[in-house]
Formats: sequence, C-alpha cells, structure tokens
Amino acid sequence: MRKFSLLLACIFLFNPVFAQISPKEHFGFTIGDDYQLANFTQTLNYFKQISEQSERVKLTGIGDTEEGRTQPMLIVSSPENLKNLDYYKEISQKLARAEGISDAEARELAEKGKAIVWIDGGLHATETLGIHQLIETLWNLVSRKDAETLRILDNTIILMVHANPDGHELVSNWYMREKIPEKRSLDHLPRLYEKYAGHDNNRDFFMMNLRETQNMSRQLFLEWLPQIMYNHHQRGPEGSVVAGAPYRDPFNYVFDPILMTSLDALGAAMNSRLNVENKPGYTQKYGSVFSTWYNGGLRTTTYFHNIIGLLTETIGGPTPSEISLVPKRLIPNGGTTFPVTPQKWHFRQSIDYSVSLNYAVLNYAVRNRDELLFNIYRMGKNSIERGNKNSWGLSPNKVEAIHQAYLKDQPGAKPVKQQILPKKYFDTVMNNPATRDPRGYIIPANQEDFQTAVKFVNALIRSGILVHKASDEFIVAGKNYPRGSFIVKTNQAFRPHVLDMFEPQDHPNDFEYEGGPPIAPYDAAGWTLAYMMHVQFDRFQDDFNGPFEPIPYGEIQRPEPGDLTHAKAYLINAESNNAFMAVNELLKVGEKVFRIGDGAEIGDFFIPGNHKTKSILGKIKNEKGLEIRLSNKTPDHLRKLSELRIALWDTYGGSMSSGWVRLLMEQFGFKASLLYAKEIDAGNLNKKFDLIIFVPGAIPVFSGGNLRANSSFSGPDPETIPEEFRNQLGSIHPEKSIPELQKFIELGGKVICIGSSTNLVYHLKLPVRNAMVEIGANGLERNLPNEKYYIPGSILSANTANTNPAAWGMPSLSDIYFDKSPVFKVSIEAITSGKIKPILWFSDAAPLRSGWAWGQTYLRNGVTAFEAALGKGKVYAFGSEITFRAQTYGTFRLLFNQLYGLSE
Ligand SMILES: [Zn+2]
Repeated sequence: MRKFSLLLACIFLFNPVFAQISPKEHFGFTIGDDYQLANFTQTLNYFKQISEQSERVKLTGIGDTEEGRTQPMLIVSSPENLKNLDYYKEISQKLARAEGISDAEARELAEKGKAIVWIDGGLHATETLGIHQLIETLWNLVSRKDAETLRILDNTIILMVHANPDGHELVSNWYMREKIPEKRSLDHLPRLYEKYAGHDNNRDFFMMNLRETQNMSRQLFLEWLPQIMYNHHQRGPEGSVVAGAPYRDPFNYVFDPILMTSLDALGAAMNSRLNVENKPGYTQKYGSVFSTWYNGGLRTTTYFHNIIGLLTETIGGPTPSEISLVPKRLIPNGGTTFPVTPQKWHFRQSIDYSVSLNYAVLNYAVRNRDELLFNIYRMGKNSIERGNKNSWGLSPNKVEAIHQAYLKDQPGAKPVKQQILPKKYFDTVMNNPATRDPRGYIIPANQEDFQTAVKFVNALIRSGILVHKASDEFIVAGKNYPRGSFIVKTNQAFRPHVLDMFEPQDHPNDFEYEGGPPIAPYDAAGWTLAYMMHVQFDRFQDDFNGPFEPIPYGEIQRPEPGDLTHAKAYLINAESNNAFMAVNELLKVGEKVFRIGDGAEIGDFFIPGNHKTKSILGKIKNEKGLEIRLSNKTPDHLRKLSELRIALWDTYGGSMSSGWVRLLMEQFGFKASLLYAKEIDAGNLNKKFDLIIFVPGAIPVFSGGNLRANSSFSGPDPETIPEEFRNQLGSIHPEKSIPELQKFIELGGKVICIGSSTNLVYHLKLPVRNAMVEIGANGLERNLPNEKYYIPGSILSANTANTNPAAWGMPSLSDIYFDKSPVFKVSIEAITSGKIKPILWFSDAAPLRSGWAWGQTYLRNGVTAFEAALGKGKVYAFGSEITFRAQTYGTFRLLFNQLYGLSE
C-alpha cells in the first residue's frame, strides 16, 4: 500500500500532466453543461492552478480592469518555447515593424520564429460562450498528447486573453443566482458589463479610453504583435451556427491586399475543419453582416496593424436553444457551404465548435508558420515603401474623379458605370501630384489646445505607432514650428492605422441595388480621429525633415514640468478642454473663476491670482498640461461661473451613452448624480438639481399624444431583482415624466438633450420642426426615405455660433459626429424673437468630412443644435453626438460650457 502511494507521488511529481485538474474537477461541472456558468473568481483560480501544474502554461497579468481586477493572459506553448519567450517576442516585433531588415533577413527570422496567435474570450460578457470556450480550449491544450496538439505547442505561442473579467463576474453570478437551473436567465442584467461602456467596450480600440482596451492594445501592438488574432463572440445569424471569416465588403481601402487574402485562407481553414468534422452551419461573406470597414473594434483595429483579425459569432448559451428554420439558408452556396438544419441546440455543442475553430486556426499557424511570419513583415515593408515614395491609394472618390474627368470632355454624355475609358483619365487623377497620399503630418506644439493634441498622439502611441518629437524649432515648407511639435510619418509598418487616424474614410455608396435602399455599414462609416478631436495638423505630400527624435515605442507623452509664476490673474484659452478640469478644482475649494464676456478673448477663463489658485493651476499644468497666460489687468466684461447640481440620466441595466458621459465627467472632474425615470416622475426636480443631461436613447419619440406608439418599458418584475436596483426601473413616460421636466425647466432648470433625446423639444412644443422631410405622393409630409437621404456615423462640418456662451471655444466651422442625427427647421420668427438660438447648422451643401453622406444636400440650412428659452429655464438640444463614445474631444465643450451657472 505504502509503495503504491509512493508510486502515485512519483507520478504526481515527475509527470505534471497527470496532476492537472480538469475543469470538471475544479468547477464541479463540465464546461458546456446546460445551465452552468463559471464566474471570474473561479476561472482565475483555475488559471492559477493550471499554470502551477502545467509546464505548457505561463499565467501573466496585463493590467488592472476598471473595477480593479487583474486582467489575465495565459501564454501557452511547449515548455521549451516558454523558456525563450523574450527571444520569440523579439522576432515577432522585428518582423511586424519591418524596420531596417531585408527580405533575406526576414526569411531567416521567419525560419527561427514561432507563430504568435492571440485567442481571447469574454469581451462581451453576456456572450458567455466566449470565456467558456477559452477555458475548454486551455484544457485541451494542456491535457492532450495527440500529435496535432504537440505540433501546435512546438510551433506556436498562444496568447489566451480574458477580455473582460469584470463583466464575467457580474454576468455569471447573475445567471447562477437562481437556484433552479431551468429558471436561470441572463435577462435584465442590472448594470453595464464594462463599467462605463458595456457592449461599446468593442468600440474603444483607436481611442483607448478604457483600461481593458489599454491593456490588450499594449499586448497586441507593442509587446507581441501576433500574426493572427481571434476574437470570439456569440451571436450567430438565425439559421446558422457560426458567422466567420472572410467577411462581406466593403473592406477598408488602406489595408494591404495580403491581409484580405490571408483572411480568405484562414476562413477556408476554419470552415473546412468544421466540414471535415461534420459540423454544419458556418456562414461567411454575404452570409452575415460583419465587414472589415470599421477601425476601433478589438478585432478590426488589428487589420490596420497587418494582423489577421478573426471574428466568429457563434450561437449557443447555457440555456438550451433552437436553431431556427430560415428556408433561404438551406440552399448551399458560397456563403454557407454546409447549411445546418433546424434542431435543439446545447451549450456543449457551441463549446465543441469553438475548440474546433481554435484548433483550425492553430493548425493553420503550424502549417504556415514561416509564411505568416514573413507575410506580416512583407505587409509592414510594403507600408514603409508606400510611405517612402509617391503613391496613390485607390478609393471611390478617385474613381468618381476619373469619371468626372471623362464627363467633362463629353458634353451631354450620361455617366455610365463599367465602361472602358481612355487611359489618360486614369493619369489625370492617379498621376496627379495633388492627389498623392501623404508622406507625413506635423502636429504643431503651438496650437490652441495642445493637450488634446497630446491625447491624440498618446492614442497613436498606445497603438504601436512610431511618433517623432522635434528637439528644436524647425521650418518645413516655409512654416515655423516650435520645439516639442510631433511628427507622424507614413513610412512605417502600421501606415494603414496612421492614414486612418488622419485621413477621411471614403465609404462607398453601398446599395442593395441601383436606386435601392442603402446597406448599413456594420458600425460607423467615418471616424477620422484627428477631426473628431479637433487636432490641428499639417499634411505633407513630399518628404520633410528636421530635428526629429523618435519616441521609444509605447512611451506615453506627458506635459513638460515647469513652475507657474505669481501673477495678478491667470488666463486659459476657451479652446482648452483641460481648462474645465482646472475650473472644477478651483470651484470645489471656493475660488472664483470668470469667463471673459466679449472682445478678442471672448470665452477665455479668468482666474484671480493667489496662493491657492497658483498651486491648483500649477499642479494641473504639470500633471495634465494646461496653457496658462499671466495677466495683470482685469478685463471689462467678466462673467462669474458657479457650480451646478448636475444630474445625468441613466436607466436600469445601464445606458452606454450615459456610461461614456459618466466617464468623461469623471475624467474632467465634474460631479453628477445619476437620475432615473422614477425620480423624475416623483417631481420637485428643482429642489435637487439645476441641470439634467439626457443622452441618446432617453426620451421617447413624440407621437402627438398617441400613447400606444410610445415606448413602454418592459422591465423585470421588481420582486426578481435585488432591492438596490429597484429604484432604477422604469423609463421616461410622456404623461408622467415630461410634465415634470417641463415644470423643472420653466422654474429655471436647464436641460441638455443629445441625439435622439432631442425628441424632448417636440414634447415641449418648442417652435422647431423636423427638417429632413419631403412632401409624399399623397401630399402629406413624410421623412425623407433612405434611398434619398442616408448618413450613418460620419463626420460633418457645421457652422458654429461661437460667440454664444454655449459654444465658446469652438471654431466657426466645427467637425461634428453625425449618426442619422436629428436636424431641425427653425422659423425666422423663432430666431429673430430670440426664442431659438441656433448653435450648429449647415450652410454648405456638401458638409461631409469623413464617412458617407448620401443626399447630403438635403442638410442645407438645417439646424442640428440650438438653445431654447422656456419659462425661466433653458433647453440645449444637440442633434449630433457631441460626446460620442468619449472620443469627440472637438465637441466636448458643447457639453462642458453648459455645466456651470454664468452671471450676466
Ligand atoms: Zn459580441
């Protein structure tokens, strides 16, 4: 007996594979069992145990989450490879950046390197398949001894990343709180599964506002630069099991073509693997809505870095479900080669599919290891070469210009697509020096709000972009630039990302058929970050040089420290976003802050100098950056700022738009209480608040008293949710909430409404109308149909009333984020009487700056933001999304300006 135990102990000590704890032993159920979910705490414990027991795993933390948990990443490979991670990481970095190496050297490195494959799970926490397939895949990789698994471990380094620990804990505990398995449900989750962004945590990857995004971007774009990344989701289209690569058009025109063909190859490997294993239901290309146009998703941002980003959306969850009958999906075609038939579906099946798909990707990486490594180098090198010479990227605008050049020579000819044109028209456009792609950009240090420009630069740096900084003043093309200016050149491996952040997105006119309805882009059509943040930059189509020092990869830029001297008063530009941080700090301790009411410095902040103001301003200047001017005279017309009691609307379950504004308010030091419908309905709002903010999605459509058409809240039974959340139930009701809001405003309250919540102005019967209408065939007014007018998320240029205190600090033409946003018609009478003061409007017939604006001429003379007086109070209506995903720094001031009391 004793001998036997000794033998067991020996096995335990010397053959770690035997000692590994299986998911079933650890969690008490098999991953994929019906009605069973593991939470984050249990999962992290499992990861810890496995990493202690297995020689194939190294557990690392990649940073903290927004709720303070550690975000884990498991590195899985052969024991031999795990001993040499730095070596393989360096090869991966060298090849991806493609700097200063030749094809021959790249081939040599590709021969020596390992394929780096990223697999994540759990980004969208309610898509519970994501994290559970990661656990099961890990178990397969550490426990299996078959030839394929061993080949994978020898040839690849797998980065297994938990994409959202906070949400995982919340969602699993919510589901498992019900003791009777059959009654478990994910419905009515009480709050966002990412503290601020919820589902939008997959829209943050060029801006990187969130900690989780910063953590993952560091691993993707600065540390490991994997050749393949695989991002798991759970939302297969009806009548299928998985939607995967390759994806539908349009793809973004800045991509290297090798990327697109690699997506085809990986997609084929994944689809084929399922076919071989007799697992039907994979759909691709036009079989699903997913495209590769957008930047900013965890998967999609990788394309702009030459990484082959894979997304699957797979059905299934712990509660058994059904595959619906969708007859048109039953005909095999190039989109769906092996249709699945209607049937009952269990979680375990989705887990098995996911493991198969992971193995398909890993097996592809094994078989094509050196090619993957060489190809990412080749894509990087192509980028460098394109940035080093005159090059002309192809896009719809250029093709349109070719057509126009031809038509100019053919008076009276009608435009016909697909015809053959003489080559000279190609040359007119594509050999024209004026239409060349840029070689680089300079971001001058002496711009109005340089600190916002620095935030933009930091977003590039976090994304692995090489940025230079001027160590001295310099001249380019006759213009002087100060020391500290930033330079971003396009001759770098991630040129697609550089172009995407500075240049307009030229979305094609994408319709179901000629004259038919538009095909919606999967997310935004245009998002040029430099425009959204109102960064001032100069664009150069010829190479330029100067005293430029490369900033080491990943080094976040901070303001240069310097003392603030004593002065009678301090002045801060009205254009400065960080000014609001300073104002909030000063008001909090009872210091006086003014804004200049007129003249050349209109809107600038004026702060009387004393020890306290000097120390507060000096601190913000050094920590966050702030341009402060010294002054020894007091301007004539000063308007005093006072703190307001601010409420921010939110709802049970959490509104993403509200979450983003909450993040913004925290970042800039504003205090706000969350306000739910019930509290509005209870009335007496003026006793508690001075100002209420309604983000998109709060105020229902005005239906002229037709209650049936009003949205009614289908919330959970209050008895079934924890008491702490019950006061959050309910929604804005036209009969109960709107009269209270009206009272609040008439008694002197201020309301800001954004996006669809400008519906409020119709409930309040303000003298404005919808401008985007036409007279239909029946003589009645109707909304413009999508065939005539369609503007999905894009950037437009709008005239701005920047002498109105509401828009102080704005340029006279502002770049605004517009997403099918409300536009108003205001009568001349309403304007001349002062009842309505337009803030943003379109005087141009072609205001599109980036994205897609079909029928944009309809916008002309439309007003998209205004201020209205009502009783003693005010309504500020912003049709366009001035706080969109906390990315639109160029329009934050349109919110911030309204958040104080302002003396006359
Ligand atoms: Zn998802």
